[in-house]
Amino acid sequence: MTVSLTDAKSAELFARASRVLPGGVNSPVRAMRSIGRDPLFVERAEGVDLIDVDGNRFVDWVCSWGPLIHGHAHPQILTAIHEAAAAGTTFGAPTALEVELAEEVVRRVPSVEMLRMTSSGTEASMSAIRLARAATGREVVVKFAGAYHGHVDGLLADAGSGLATQGIPASAGVLESATRATVVVPWNDVAAVEEAFARHDVAALIAEPYPANMGLVLPEPGFLARLRELTEAHGALLIFDEVISGFRVAPGGAQELSDVTPDLTVMGKVIGGGLPAAAFGGSQALMERLAPVGDVYQAGTLSGNPLAVAAGLASLRMLDETAYLRLSETTEALATGLREAAGDRPVQVASVGGLVTVFFSEQPVRDYADARRCDHEAYARWCRGLLARGVYAPPSGYEAWFVSLAHAPEHVARTLEAAAAAFEVAW
Ligand code: PMP
Repeated sequence: MTVSLTDAKSAELFARASRVLPGGVNSPVRAMRSIGRDPLFVERAEGVDLIDVDGNRFVDWVCSWGPLIHGHAHPQILTAIHEAAAAGTTFGAPTALEVELAEEVVRRVPSVEMLRMTSSGTEASMSAIRLARAATGREVVVKFAGAYHGHVDGLLADAGSGLATQGIPASAGVLESATRATVVVPWNDVAAVEEAFARHDVAALIAEPYPANMGLVLPEPGFLARLRELTEAHGALLIFDEVISGFRVAPGGAQELSDVTPDLTVMGKVIGGGLPAAAFGGSQALMERLAPVGDVYQAGTLSGNPLAVAAGLASLRMLDETAYLRLSETTEALATGLREAAGDRPVQVASVGGLVTVFFSEQPVRDYADARRCDHEAYARWCRGLLARGVYAPPSGYEAWFVSLAHAPEHVARTLEAAAAAFEVAW
Protein backbone atom coordinates (compact mmCIF):
# COMPACT_ATOMS: atom_id res chain seq x y z
CA MET A 1 0.00 0.00 0.00
CA THR A 2 1.40 3.40 -0.91
CA VAL A 3 0.50 6.21 1.39
CA SER A 4 0.85 9.51 -0.37
CA LEU A 5 2.53 12.13 1.74
CA THR A 6 0.74 15.35 2.42
CA ASP A 7 3.47 17.92 2.27
CA ALA A 8 1.74 21.25 1.66
CA LYS A 9 3.19 22.90 4.77
CA SER A 10 6.68 21.58 4.07
CA ALA A 11 6.39 22.88 0.51
CA GLU A 12 5.31 26.29 1.74
CA LEU A 13 8.20 26.46 4.22
CA PHE A 14 10.62 25.26 1.58
CA ALA A 15 9.53 28.07 -0.75
CA ARG A 16 10.13 30.61 2.03
CA ALA A 17 13.40 28.92 3.06
CA SER A 18 14.70 28.98 -0.48
CA ARG A 19 14.45 32.77 -0.49
CA VAL A 20 16.63 33.20 2.59
CA LEU A 21 18.73 30.03 2.88
CA PRO A 22 20.75 28.70 -0.09
CA GLY A 23 18.92 25.60 -1.30
CA GLY A 24 16.48 26.12 1.55
CA VAL A 25 18.75 24.33 4.04
CA ASN A 26 21.67 24.87 6.39
CA SER A 27 23.52 21.69 5.33
CA PRO A 28 23.32 20.15 1.83
CA VAL A 29 22.20 16.53 2.42
CA ARG A 30 19.01 17.74 4.14
CA ALA A 31 17.74 19.08 0.83
CA MET A 32 16.85 15.50 -0.31
CA ARG A 33 17.95 16.41 -3.84
CA SER A 34 19.68 13.07 -4.24
CA ILE A 35 16.33 11.31 -3.96
CA GLY A 36 14.68 13.84 -6.23
CA ARG A 37 12.30 15.56 -3.86
CA ASP A 38 12.08 18.57 -1.58
CA PRO A 39 12.82 18.33 2.13
CA LEU A 40 10.26 17.63 4.82
CA PHE A 41 10.33 20.20 7.61
CA VAL A 42 10.35 18.65 11.05
CA GLU A 43 7.99 19.81 13.76
CA ARG A 44 9.10 17.57 16.59
CA ALA A 45 10.37 14.13 17.46
CA GLU A 46 10.30 11.76 20.39
CA GLY A 47 12.14 8.44 20.64
CA VAL A 48 12.33 7.46 16.97
CA ASP A 49 9.01 9.03 15.98
CA LEU A 50 9.69 11.95 13.69
CA ILE A 51 6.71 14.21 13.01
CA ASP A 52 6.80 16.74 10.20
CA VAL A 53 4.92 20.03 9.91
CA ASP A 54 2.13 18.35 7.93
CA GLY A 55 1.59 15.80 10.70
CA ASN A 56 3.21 12.85 8.89
CA ARG A 57 4.81 10.39 11.28
CA PHE A 58 7.97 8.46 10.41
CA VAL A 59 10.26 5.89 11.99
CA ASP A 60 13.50 7.88 11.98
CA TRP A 61 16.68 6.03 10.88
CA VAL A 62 18.65 9.24 10.35
CA CYS A 63 18.57 10.37 13.98
CA SER A 64 20.26 13.67 13.13
CA TRP A 65 23.06 11.74 11.37
CA GLY A 66 24.44 10.11 14.48
CA PRO A 67 24.31 12.12 17.69
CA LEU A 68 21.00 10.65 18.87
CA ILE A 69 22.08 7.20 20.00
CA HIS A 70 19.30 7.34 22.63
CA GLY A 71 16.71 8.63 20.17
CA HIS A 72 15.05 12.05 20.23
CA ALA A 73 14.23 14.02 23.36
CA HIS A 74 15.47 11.42 25.82
CA PRO A 75 14.15 12.50 29.26
CA GLN A 76 17.53 12.16 31.04
CA ILE A 77 19.31 14.20 28.40
CA LEU A 78 16.57 16.85 28.45
CA THR A 79 16.83 17.10 32.23
CA ALA A 80 20.61 17.49 32.02
CA ILE A 81 20.22 20.27 29.44
CA HIS A 82 17.52 22.05 31.46
CA GLU A 83 19.61 21.94 34.63
CA ALA A 84 22.70 23.20 32.84
CA ALA A 85 20.76 25.97 31.08
CA ALA A 86 19.24 27.19 34.34
CA ALA A 87 22.78 27.71 35.67
CA GLY A 88 23.84 29.79 32.67
CA THR A 89 24.35 28.85 29.04
CA THR A 90 27.98 29.78 28.47
CA PHE A 91 30.75 31.38 30.48
CA GLY A 92 33.91 31.33 28.38
CA ALA A 93 35.52 29.92 31.52
CA PRO A 94 36.12 26.34 32.68
CA THR A 95 33.42 24.26 34.42
CA ALA A 96 33.45 21.06 36.47
CA LEU A 97 31.25 19.19 33.98
CA GLU A 98 33.74 19.53 31.14
CA VAL A 99 36.36 17.86 33.35
CA GLU A 100 33.90 15.05 34.05
CA LEU A 101 33.17 14.61 30.35
CA ALA A 102 36.90 14.54 29.51
CA GLU A 103 37.48 11.95 32.26
CA GLU A 104 34.62 9.83 30.89
CA VAL A 105 36.09 9.96 27.37
CA VAL A 106 39.62 9.12 28.59
CA ARG A 107 38.21 6.12 30.46
CA ARG A 108 36.57 4.82 27.31
CA VAL A 109 38.81 5.58 24.35
CA PRO A 110 42.08 3.59 24.35
CA SER A 111 44.25 6.20 22.56
CA VAL A 112 43.03 9.26 24.43
CA GLU A 113 44.88 10.57 27.48
CA MET A 114 43.86 14.18 26.91
CA LEU A 115 41.36 15.91 24.68
CA ARG A 116 40.37 19.34 23.46
CA MET A 117 36.72 20.09 22.75
CA THR A 118 35.36 21.94 19.74
CA SER A 119 31.84 22.69 18.51
CA SER A 120 31.95 20.61 15.30
CA GLY A 121 33.68 17.59 13.82
CA THR A 122 35.07 19.84 11.10
CA GLU A 123 36.95 21.96 13.61
CA ALA A 124 38.18 18.86 15.43
CA SER A 125 39.67 17.23 12.32
CA MET A 126 41.12 20.56 11.13
CA SER A 127 42.82 20.98 14.51
CA ALA A 128 44.05 17.37 14.63
CA ILE A 129 45.73 17.87 11.23
CA ARG A 130 47.35 21.12 12.41
CA LEU A 131 48.65 19.36 15.51
CA ALA A 132 49.97 16.40 13.48
CA ARG A 133 51.81 18.74 11.11
CA ALA A 134 53.34 20.61 14.03
CA ALA A 135 54.36 17.40 15.80
CA THR A 136 56.02 15.86 12.72
CA GLY A 137 57.29 19.02 11.04
CA ARG A 138 55.88 17.60 7.79
CA GLU A 139 53.05 18.67 5.49
CA VAL A 140 51.52 15.78 3.56
CA VAL A 141 48.27 14.25 4.77
CA VAL A 142 47.03 10.96 3.33
CA LYS A 143 43.27 10.47 3.20
CA PHE A 144 40.97 7.92 1.62
CA ALA A 145 38.69 8.49 -1.35
CA GLY A 146 35.09 8.59 -0.15
CA ALA A 147 36.03 9.46 3.43
CA TYR A 148 34.61 12.66 4.91
CA HIS A 149 36.26 14.55 7.72
CA GLY A 150 34.23 17.73 7.62
CA HIS A 151 34.54 20.62 5.19
CA VAL A 152 38.16 21.45 6.00
CA ASP A 153 39.81 22.99 2.90
CA GLY A 154 42.72 20.55 2.74
CA LEU A 155 40.46 17.54 3.28
CA LEU A 156 37.92 18.53 0.62
CA ALA A 157 40.11 16.78 -1.91
CA ASP A 158 39.16 14.38 -4.67
CA ALA A 159 41.39 11.69 -6.04
CA GLY A 160 42.80 12.09 -9.53
CA SER A 161 43.30 8.96 -11.60
CA GLY A 162 45.89 6.46 -10.45
CA LEU A 163 46.72 4.82 -7.17
CA ALA A 164 47.99 7.41 -4.73
CA THR A 165 47.15 10.77 -6.18
CA GLN A 166 47.81 14.32 -5.13
CA GLY A 167 44.45 15.75 -4.14
CA ILE A 168 42.53 18.09 -6.40
CA PRO A 169 40.00 20.53 -4.91
CA ALA A 170 36.60 18.87 -4.40
CA SER A 171 34.85 22.23 -4.04
CA ALA A 172 35.00 25.58 -5.73
CA GLY A 173 36.81 28.01 -3.47
CA VAL A 174 39.33 25.45 -2.21
CA LEU A 175 42.79 26.48 -3.36
CA GLU A 176 44.96 24.03 -5.23
CA SER A 177 47.64 24.97 -2.73
CA ALA A 178 45.33 23.74 0.05
CA THR A 179 44.96 20.25 -1.42
CA ARG A 180 48.49 19.97 -2.85
CA ALA A 181 49.63 18.51 0.47
CA THR A 182 46.76 15.99 0.50
CA VAL A 183 47.26 12.59 -1.06
CA VAL A 184 44.11 10.59 -1.79
CA VAL A 185 44.19 6.78 -1.86
CA PRO A 186 41.49 4.15 -2.37
CA TRP A 187 40.12 2.53 0.79
CA ASN A 188 41.12 -1.10 1.47
CA ASP A 189 44.07 -0.78 -0.95
CA VAL A 190 47.29 -1.61 0.89
CA ALA A 191 49.47 -1.16 -2.21
CA ALA A 192 48.18 2.38 -2.74
CA VAL A 193 48.90 3.34 0.86
CA GLU A 194 52.39 1.85 0.61
CA GLU A 195 52.99 3.82 -2.56
CA ALA A 196 51.87 7.04 -0.88
CA PHE A 197 54.31 6.47 1.97
CA ALA A 198 57.13 5.58 -0.44
CA ARG A 199 56.60 8.76 -2.45
CA HIS A 200 55.82 11.33 0.22
CA ASP A 201 57.11 12.56 3.53
CA VAL A 202 53.82 11.97 5.32
CA ALA A 203 52.79 13.95 8.41
CA ALA A 204 49.61 11.98 9.05
CA LEU A 205 47.21 9.47 7.63
CA ILE A 206 43.60 10.24 8.50
CA ALA A 207 40.98 7.52 8.23
CA GLU A 208 37.47 6.79 9.33
CA PRO A 209 38.30 3.34 10.75
CA TYR A 210 34.77 2.23 9.83
CA PRO A 211 34.05 4.58 6.92
CA ALA A 212 30.39 5.58 6.81
CA ASN A 213 30.36 8.53 4.42
CA MET A 214 30.41 6.44 1.22
CA GLY A 215 27.91 4.18 2.89
CA LEU A 216 29.38 1.83 5.46
CA VAL A 217 32.45 0.16 3.95
CA LEU A 218 34.23 -1.87 6.60
CA PRO A 219 37.99 -2.38 6.53
CA GLU A 220 39.17 -5.73 5.23
CA PRO A 221 40.90 -7.96 7.81
CA GLY A 222 44.33 -6.59 8.71
CA PHE A 223 43.88 -3.29 6.83
CA LEU A 224 43.76 -1.02 9.90
CA ALA A 225 46.71 -2.87 11.47
CA ARG A 226 48.69 -2.29 8.26
CA LEU A 227 47.90 1.44 8.45
CA ARG A 228 49.30 1.42 11.98
CA GLU A 229 52.49 -0.37 10.86
CA LEU A 230 53.09 1.94 7.92
CA THR A 231 52.54 5.17 9.85
CA GLU A 232 54.79 3.97 12.64
CA ALA A 233 57.53 2.81 10.26
CA HIS A 234 57.54 6.22 8.52
CA GLY A 235 57.31 8.39 11.62
CA ALA A 236 53.85 9.62 10.60
CA LEU A 237 50.83 9.96 12.85
CA LEU A 238 47.73 7.81 12.49
CA ILE A 239 44.52 9.77 12.99
CA PHE A 240 41.23 7.93 13.40
CA ASP A 241 38.19 10.04 12.67
CA GLU A 242 35.64 8.39 14.94
CA VAL A 243 33.02 11.14 14.61
CA ILE A 244 30.55 8.45 13.53
CA SER A 245 32.04 5.23 14.98
CA GLY A 246 33.06 6.73 18.33
CA PHE A 247 30.93 5.66 21.33
CA ARG A 248 28.66 3.87 18.83
CA VAL A 249 30.25 0.65 17.61
CA ALA A 250 31.76 0.03 21.09
CA PRO A 251 32.39 2.12 24.24
CA GLY A 252 35.86 2.99 22.91
CA GLY A 253 34.87 3.12 19.24
CA ALA A 254 36.36 1.25 16.29
CA GLN A 255 39.83 1.41 17.84
CA GLU A 256 38.60 -0.76 20.69
CA LEU A 257 36.92 -3.27 18.37
CA SER A 258 39.84 -3.48 15.95
CA ASP A 259 42.55 -3.30 18.58
CA VAL A 260 44.44 -0.74 16.50
CA THR A 261 45.42 2.34 18.49
CA PRO A 262 45.79 5.62 16.61
CA ASP A 263 47.91 8.59 17.72
CA LEU A 264 45.03 11.04 17.49
CA THR A 265 41.28 10.49 17.56
CA VAL A 266 38.61 12.83 16.23
CA MET A 267 35.27 12.56 18.02
CA GLY A 268 31.84 14.15 17.50
CA LYS A 269 28.13 13.40 17.29
CA VAL A 270 27.39 11.08 20.29
CA ILE A 271 29.85 13.05 22.47
CA GLY A 272 27.47 16.04 22.35
CA GLY A 273 24.26 14.12 23.06
CA GLY A 274 22.45 16.06 20.31
CA LEU A 275 23.98 19.45 21.03
CA PRO A 276 26.95 20.91 19.15
CA ALA A 277 30.11 19.31 20.53
CA ALA A 278 33.11 17.45 19.17
CA ALA A 279 36.68 16.83 20.29
CA PHE A 280 40.08 15.50 19.35
CA GLY A 281 42.44 13.69 21.65
CA GLY A 282 45.60 11.65 22.01
CA SER A 283 48.61 11.17 24.24
CA GLN A 284 49.52 13.80 26.79
CA ALA A 285 52.79 14.50 24.96
CA LEU A 286 50.96 15.27 21.70
CA MET A 287 48.05 17.15 23.21
CA GLU A 288 50.31 19.37 25.29
CA ARG A 289 51.60 20.85 22.05
CA LEU A 290 48.32 22.82 22.11
CA ALA A 291 48.09 26.40 23.40
CA PRO A 292 48.19 27.52 26.16
CA VAL A 293 50.86 24.93 27.08
CA GLY A 294 52.36 24.51 23.62
CA ASP A 295 52.88 26.31 20.33
CA VAL A 296 49.87 25.03 18.31
CA TYR A 297 47.05 27.55 18.40
CA GLN A 298 43.50 26.24 18.72
CA ALA A 299 40.47 27.90 20.36
CA GLY A 300 36.68 28.32 20.41
CA THR A 301 34.19 30.72 22.04
CA LEU A 302 31.66 27.94 22.64
CA SER A 303 34.10 25.00 22.96
CA GLY A 304 33.09 22.80 25.89
CA ASN A 305 29.75 24.60 26.03
CA PRO A 306 27.99 23.73 29.33
CA LEU A 307 24.74 22.61 27.68
CA ALA A 308 26.52 20.42 25.14
CA VAL A 309 28.79 18.96 27.81
CA ALA A 310 25.80 18.17 30.05
CA ALA A 311 23.96 16.48 27.18
CA GLY A 312 27.06 14.54 26.12
CA LEU A 313 27.80 13.37 29.62
CA ALA A 314 24.21 12.23 30.18
CA SER A 315 24.34 10.41 26.84
CA LEU A 316 27.66 8.65 27.55
CA ARG A 317 26.66 7.63 31.07
CA MET A 318 23.67 5.69 29.75
CA LEU A 319 25.91 3.77 27.33
CA ASP A 320 26.73 0.71 29.41
CA GLU A 321 27.44 -2.85 28.27
CA THR A 322 23.73 -3.71 28.08
CA ALA A 323 23.12 -0.70 25.86
CA TYR A 324 25.77 -1.82 23.35
CA LEU A 325 24.38 -5.36 23.33
CA ARG A 326 20.90 -4.04 22.63
CA LEU A 327 22.16 -1.68 19.92
CA SER A 328 23.94 -4.60 18.22
CA GLU A 329 20.83 -6.79 18.42
CA THR A 330 18.65 -4.10 16.85
CA THR A 331 21.26 -3.48 14.14
CA GLU A 332 21.50 -7.18 13.39
CA ALA A 333 17.71 -7.58 13.23
CA LEU A 334 17.44 -4.63 10.83
CA ALA A 335 20.35 -5.76 8.62
CA THR A 336 19.22 -9.39 8.45
CA GLY A 337 15.62 -8.36 7.82
CA LEU A 338 16.64 -6.00 5.00
CA ARG A 339 18.69 -8.76 3.37
CA GLU A 340 15.70 -11.10 3.57
CA ALA A 341 13.33 -8.45 2.25
CA ALA A 342 15.65 -7.82 -0.70
CA GLY A 343 15.66 -11.54 -1.53
CA ASP A 344 17.60 -12.16 -4.75
CA ARG A 345 17.59 -8.52 -5.85
CA PRO A 346 20.99 -6.84 -6.36
CA VAL A 347 21.25 -5.46 -2.83
CA GLN A 348 24.12 -5.61 -0.32
CA VAL A 349 23.54 -4.78 3.32
CA ALA A 350 26.62 -3.74 5.31
CA SER A 351 26.39 -3.42 9.09
CA VAL A 352 28.26 -3.04 12.35
CA GLY A 353 26.82 -2.14 15.78
CA GLY A 354 24.63 0.94 15.33
CA LEU A 355 25.23 1.41 11.58
CA VAL A 356 23.67 -0.10 8.46
CA THR A 357 23.96 0.70 4.76
CA VAL A 358 21.85 -0.67 1.94
CA PHE A 359 23.89 -0.69 -1.28
CA PHE A 360 22.02 -1.26 -4.54
CA SER A 361 24.82 -3.36 -5.97
CA GLU A 362 25.39 -6.86 -7.34
CA GLN A 363 28.74 -7.07 -5.58
CA PRO A 364 29.88 -6.29 -2.04
CA VAL A 365 31.19 -2.71 -1.82
CA ARG A 366 34.85 -2.42 -0.78
CA ASP A 367 35.79 1.13 -1.77
CA TYR A 368 34.48 4.44 -3.07
CA ALA A 369 34.66 3.36 -6.72
CA ASP A 370 32.32 0.45 -5.87
CA ALA A 371 30.01 2.77 -3.92
CA ARG A 372 29.76 5.09 -6.92
CA ARG A 373 28.88 2.21 -9.21
CA CYS A 374 25.77 1.40 -7.13
CA ASP A 375 22.34 2.04 -8.63
CA HIS A 376 21.65 5.33 -6.87
CA GLU A 377 18.53 5.94 -8.97
CA ALA A 378 16.99 2.71 -7.66
CA TYR A 379 18.02 3.68 -4.12
CA ALA A 380 16.27 7.04 -4.60
CA ARG A 381 13.04 5.35 -5.71
CA TRP A 382 13.26 2.89 -2.81
CA CYS A 383 13.91 5.72 -0.35
CA ARG A 384 10.91 7.71 -1.62
CA GLY A 385 8.90 4.49 -1.32
CA LEU A 386 10.00 4.21 2.31
CA LEU A 387 9.03 7.80 3.05
CA ALA A 388 5.59 7.20 1.55
CA ARG A 389 5.26 4.25 3.96
CA GLY A 390 6.31 6.14 7.06
CA VAL A 391 10.02 5.31 7.16
CA TYR A 392 12.58 8.13 7.16
CA ALA A 393 15.85 6.66 5.83
CA PRO A 394 18.96 8.59 4.77
CA PRO A 395 18.05 10.33 1.51
CA SER A 396 21.28 9.18 -0.16
CA GLY A 397 22.86 5.84 -0.95
CA TYR A 398 26.19 7.18 0.34
CA GLU A 399 25.03 7.39 3.95
CA ALA A 400 24.58 5.07 6.89
CA TRP A 401 21.34 4.39 8.72
CA PHE A 402 21.79 5.33 12.36
CA VAL A 403 20.33 2.75 14.72
CA SER A 404 19.46 4.03 18.18
CA LEU A 405 18.53 2.54 21.53
CA ALA A 406 15.03 3.92 21.03
CA HIS A 407 14.46 1.63 18.03
CA ALA A 408 12.32 -1.23 19.35
CA PRO A 409 11.46 -4.51 17.58
CA GLU A 410 8.16 -2.98 16.48
CA HIS A 411 10.04 -0.17 14.63
CA VAL A 412 12.23 -2.74 12.92
CA ALA A 413 9.15 -4.77 11.94
CA ARG A 414 7.37 -1.72 10.50
CA THR A 415 10.50 -0.75 8.61
CA LEU A 416 10.97 -4.21 7.12
CA GLU A 417 7.38 -4.32 5.95
CA ALA A 418 7.80 -0.94 4.27
CA ALA A 419 11.19 -1.98 2.86
CA ALA A 420 9.77 -5.12 1.24
CA ALA A 421 6.94 -3.13 -0.36
CA ALA A 422 9.30 -0.37 -1.50
CA PHE A 423 11.69 -2.90 -3.08
CA GLU A 424 8.79 -3.80 -5.40
CA VAL A 425 8.80 -0.28 -6.85
CA ALA A 426 12.54 0.45 -6.81
CA TRP A 427 13.54 -0.99 -10.19
N1 PMP B 1 34.05 13.30 10.33
C1 PMP B 1 33.11 12.40 10.03
C2 PMP B 1 33.48 10.96 9.94
C3 PMP B 1 31.79 12.82 9.81
O1 PMP B 1 30.86 11.91 9.48
C4 PMP B 1 31.48 14.19 9.93
C5 PMP B 1 30.07 14.71 9.72
N2 PMP B 1 29.13 13.87 9.27
C6 PMP B 1 32.50 15.08 10.24
C7 PMP B 1 33.77 14.61 10.45
C8 PMP B 1 32.24 16.55 10.36
O2 PMP B 1 31.51 16.82 11.51
P1 PMP B 1 30.61 18.15 11.61
O3 PMP B 1 29.49 17.99 10.65
O4 PMP B 1 30.21 18.19 13.04
O5 PMP B 1 31.52 19.29 11.23
